[in-house]
Formats: sequence, structure tokens, C-alpha cells
Amino acid sequence: MVNVPEIFGSKVFNDDAMRQRLPKDVYKALQKTIKEGSHLQLDMANVVAEAMKNWALENGATHFTHWFQPMTGVTAEKHDSFISPVDGGKVLMEFSGKELVKGEPDASSFPSGGLRDTYEARGYTAWDPTSYAFIKEDTLCIPTAFCSYSGEALDKKTPLLRSMQALDKQAVRILRLFGDNDTKRVITTVGPEQEYFLIDADVYKKRPDLLYTGRTLFGNKPPKGQELDDHYFGQIKPRVKEFMKDLDNELWKLGILAKTEHNEVAPAQHELAPIFSTTNIATDHNQLTMELMKTVAKKHHMHCLLHEKPFDGVNGSGKHNNWSLSTDTGKNLLEPGDTPSQNAQFLLFLTAVIEAVDRYQGLLRFSVASAGNDHRLGANEAPPAIISVYVGDELDNVIKSIMEGTDYTDKSKKLMSIGASVLPHIPQDTTDRNRTSPFAFTGNKFEFRSLGSNASIASPNIVLNTIVAEVLSEYADQLEKASDFDSAMSELVKKHLTDHKRIIFEGNGYSEEWVKEAEKRGLRNLPSTVEATEAFIEPESIDVFTKNKVYTETEIRSRYEISLENYYKQINIEAQTLSDMTKDEIIGAGLRYEQFLSKTINDMKATGTGIPTRVEEKLLAQAAEMVEELYDRLQKLDMDVAKEDDMDDVKELASYNRYTILPDMDSLREVIDELESRVPHELWPYPTYGELLYSVQ
Ligand code: ADP
Ligand code: MG
Repeated sequence: MVNVPEIFGSKVFNDDAMRQRLPKDVYKALQKTIKEGSHLQLDMANVVAEAMKNWALENGATHFTHWFQPMTGVTAEKHDSFISPVDGGKVLMEFSGKELVKGEPDASSFPSGGLRDTYEARGYTAWDPTSYAFIKEDTLCIPTAFCSYSGEALDKKTPLLRSMQALDKQAVRILRLFGDNDTKRVITTVGPEQEYFLIDADVYKKRPDLLYTGRTLFGNKPPKGQELDDHYFGQIKPRVKEFMKDLDNELWKLGILAKTEHNEVAPAQHELAPIFSTTNIATDHNQLTMELMKTVAKKHHMHCLLHEKPFDGVNGSGKHNNWSLSTDTGKNLLEPGDTPSQNAQFLLFLTAVIEAVDRYQGLLRFSVASAGNDHRLGANEAPPAIISVYVGDELDNVIKSIMEGTDYTDKSKKLMSIGASVLPHIPQDTTDRNRTSPFAFTGNKFEFRSLGSNASIASPNIVLNTIVAEVLSEYADQLEKASDFDSAMSELVKKHLTDHKRIIFEGNGYSEEWVKEAEKRGLRNLPSTVEATEAFIEPESIDVFTKNKVYTETEIRSRYEISLENYYKQINIEAQTLSDMTKDEIIGAGLRYEQFLSKTINDMKATGTGIPTRVEEKLLAQAAEMVEELYDRLQKLDMDVAKEDDMDDVKELASYNRYTILPDMDSLREVIDELESRVPHELWPYPTYGELLYSVQ
């Protein structure tokens, strides 16, 4: 039996460890750095480093690394051992304050989106004391930000921290207007629900497409998929249960609040949800969770698939980003309150989020765009590519009555009153669930549901924090000047809800009608990463990021390049993998099938009995036709891929891959899937969907 409270955080240099191991003055200085972002003197850093090292050594570490999140979306680390030579051919284990606060990994092999051409190539990592150091295997990992020497962020953490600062600043201005002088900081909180697939390691190894691209590039739906809805919340298989238990333990040791684990809709699909935490911690923890899912799965002879759409025709995997705002005193600002004034405040924050989502739909769409996620969004299983907000029936009625200036009363519900008399009461905690909405209010938080399972949650939260900060700053500018705050506030809420009501949609987001209706409302529909990425460099986007000091224009342009580059490279790898697999094994399977049929026909004829071979001959003719199609479509794909050699503009390459290469792959896949359904199982070279999805029993 594991003693959970005992192992929880045992591999983390957390507050408890700091308090125990640091001299009081150093502990206090470090706390100040963590809470207020003040500078930590080098002599203090030396003491922290020494304590951290001793703790790490006691816990079996031999190495340390600055752990960071470059723009690849995964984490990076470069391990250094603690050893330092001394006389007599011996070593000491050493770690200095300088090594703790700053590192210099070679920046040149990480994507920089052109930043390297214009700026100093070297980058450095800087300790983020707000996220605790931890031990992974034999290495002390120090969470860091990654910047170029000229100060540009080369990672996802730096802009995330900046966006949290922006929101903090503006939200506090609003709170002051409501007479709150206690709150020192407002932080954003996030709880990401993570979906994933588990398949057996043996079948995984036999699919090069899974190995190289994370998804299957062909395969027929198994006779039993998710039709019966019997997997969702179903009984967890013992082998999966063991995996989850192990995973929980590892996560708990790292201080990650793994809470809920259950089966998801598709066979072999599962979900893990942690208890929410501060956004940057939640981001670090989500990266670690994804990493540990893979390593723990390996120990159980399984493979964890985090791709957004590993299997066609079966639900893909997403990540729900539950997001809210909280004061340092622990108040959730998206929770309708107990007093009239708190409710007015709640409505103001709610209005700000609604307005932000409406004005920056394109940015939110961009923040979840990737080659993998393109297969999900709008595919009748995940929210559409159109961004809208769901608020729930009750709140919808409240909003309507604010806009119409009527009183909202629903006698059956407990009502709350609001300070300004023109604003209606808010019924308490009344949220029904609309799973088809990309952005839903769920009682005391918003749930952004468009994220792909594989993505870092940094990007969507950077956007969310920034756009809400922007709207709040505009509100604060206006309200700080008002002579009568109550009535100015009521008017503002009414006007801004009216201006942005088009973004609120309570109906079925998966329906065809919504696509038409959204178009009528003037909402954006950015079908793929190619279009979504353009939204990032529109003037309003550049303005909102630069004004709130989250990205410089240079950083935006470099990230724009990286997004398109990642996108087309991903598809290019897929195209080459599909081509190789077709050449290596699939054409061969078609030929063996033809041979099998023709031999059968010849054998039958050789009996001299005149037995009819009509069906066999027909099957052979069809097989020959399929092999021919296979060859032709493969030729087309190969030729089209070769044409990319003459292109060098990222936008052109991205668009070409989206609108020429992907259709080529689909067309080739069509024949492969048909062939798979015909060829006898023992002649088929790759594990089928059935074998993959039901490989873990
Ligand atoms: P669901 O029904 O969508 O599965 P849950 O109620 O289980 O949702 O919660 C989903 C996630 O929302 C959890 O990770 C939870 O910690 C998180 N969450 C709850 N409150 C907040 C909050 N105030 N801020 C951010 N995340 C929150
Ligand atoms: Mg959810």
C-alpha cells in the first residue's frame, strides 16, 4: 500500500523542503522572489543551490538540468552531472548559484522562426522560481525560461508568465473599483483534462506510421467501434488499472494533483484530470504528465498515443482547458457571489471574457491549431473550428434581460441580487452541459474545449490571459473616469454584452445549421492551421500582444513562421511515411493477393473438371485494378511531394501541403483501405484497427 500523503511531492523541492533546508533569511528572500518576482542576490542563490543539491543527492540524483519549453511544444533538457574534479583524481558533487539561475544551452538547434538571423544566435535559460524544481529519474530538473541574448523569448513559458502579469495588472484595477483593497494579485488558474489512447507495445512496433507520425495513415474501422457507447466510463481493464495506479504514484511524487481517471468514448481511450493550479504550474505539470504517460506505459509494455487523431473514424483525443481567475486571497472571480456587489463584479468579468472571445476569435482558433488537431476540429466529435461561447440557459436569460433592460426572475431558483439596481439577479450555480461548445461557462470557470491532446496548454492560455487583460484594461480606463460608478458599470455591461452577443450560442455546435448561422452572424470559420495562423499576424493581434507586453512584433512573426513550418513538416513526414509503407509492404500484399487468386484459378482449372472459376476471376480482375490504382495514386503523391523542393515560402508550403498533399494521401488511403478489406488477413502486413484498438485486454 502506498502512503499517498507521504509520497506526495517527495520528488519536489517544494515549500516544505525549502523551509526545512534553508536558513530563515534565505528562505524569506526566496519567498519574496517567488511571490513578488523580486531579484534574488547571488549569495542567496548560492545557498539555495547548495541546499537543492544536497536534497537532490539524498534523493538519488547525480545530474541536473535546466528544464525548458522551446517552441517545439515539448520540453527540453541538457543534463550535466554535479561532478567537479579535486586533487587525487577524486570528484566532489557541486552546484553553484550561478548554475541554478542561468544556463546556456546551444540555442541553434531549436526553432527560432528567423529570430536567429536577425539576432544573437545564443540563448540562455533563466530559473523560474515560481515553479518548483523536481527530480526525474536521476536528474534534478530546474524549470526555466528560455530567451535569446537580445531578450526575445524562445520558449512558451516566458510569454505565459508575461500574460499572467498583464492579466494580474488589469484585473486588480477592476477590483479596486469595486472597493477591494485587499487583493494584491490576481492569478489565472487552469485544470487541463488530458485524453490519451493506450495500445500494446507489440502492435505499436509493427506500425511505422504510429512510430513516425503518431497516427495511423490507413486502416479500416473495426466492426465494433464506439457505437455502443459502452467504453465511456466503463469498467477499467486490469492492465490499464495497473498503469493508472503507477502513473498516479509517479505524478503524486512530483506534486502533480492527479485526481480523476476514467475510460473515454473510444475503445482504448482514457482520460486523466488533475486538480487545477496556477497557469504556469499547470502548464509545467501537464507537460510532465504527458511525458510520464509515455514512460509509465512503456513499463507496462504499452504505448501511450497522445496524437489528436490516431484513428480515423474513431474519436480523437482532446484536452479541456478549464480556466478561471482567482485572487491571492483565494476568491474565484468567475463565481457568482453572495453579495449584490460581488455579483455585479462577476458580471463585469463575465462580460469581459465574452467580449474578448468575440473580438479575438481568430487568435483563440490559432492557439489550438496544429496538423494533428485539424483532423478533429469540426469533425463531429470535437468542437467546430468556429469559436463561440456557451453560457447555459439561466445565464443566457440573465444576459438577455440585461440587454432588454427587463427584470429577470425565476422563482424556482435561488436568486442573488446585484448592487446596481438595473442589473438583474443571478441564479446560483445553474449550468447545464453543452458538450458541443468550444468555450463553455461551467459554473465558476470557462472550459476551452478545442485543444488537441498533444498540445502544450501554454499557447491557448497566453491568448486567453492577454485578450481578457486587454478588455479589462479598456473597462478600467472607462470606469476609473466615471463619476457614478454603479450606473457607469451597468451601462457598460449592457452595451458590451449587446455588442458581442453574436458570440453566444447555446445550440448544437456540431450541426450543419450552426455553420450557416455562424456565417450569418459574421463569426469566423478558419478551417485549418493554414488560415488560422494568418490570424496571428493581423494588426489587431499584433496590437493586443505588444500593448500588453506579451510578445514583441518580432516574436510574433517568428512564431508565425514556426507554426507554418511545423505544420507542413508534419504533413511532409506523414506523406513520406505513407509512401514508404505503400512501397515496402502494401503493393507487395496486393501482388501476393493476385498471386494467391491466380494460383487458385490455375489449380481449379488443372483439375480438368470444368469447375467454374467465374468468381475467382472476377476477384482477380478487381485485385489487378486496385493494384493499378494503388500504383497510380502513389505516383501522384510522390510527384507532388517532389515538387516541394522548388518551394521555399512557408505559407506556400503550408497551403500546398494542406490542399494538395493531404488530398493525395486521402486518395491513396482510399485504395489501401479497400485492399485491406479484400486481402486475406494472413497476407496483410500491418496490424488492423481492430488489433490496435483491442490490443490491451
Ligand atoms: P468535467 O465534468 O468537465 O470532466 P470537472 O468538474 O471534473 O469537469 O472538472 C474539470 C477540471 O476543472 C478539473 O481539472 C478541475 O480541477 C478544474 N477546475 C475546477 N475549478 C477550477 C477553477 N476555478 N479554475 C480552473 N480549473 C478549475
Ligand atoms: Mg471537461
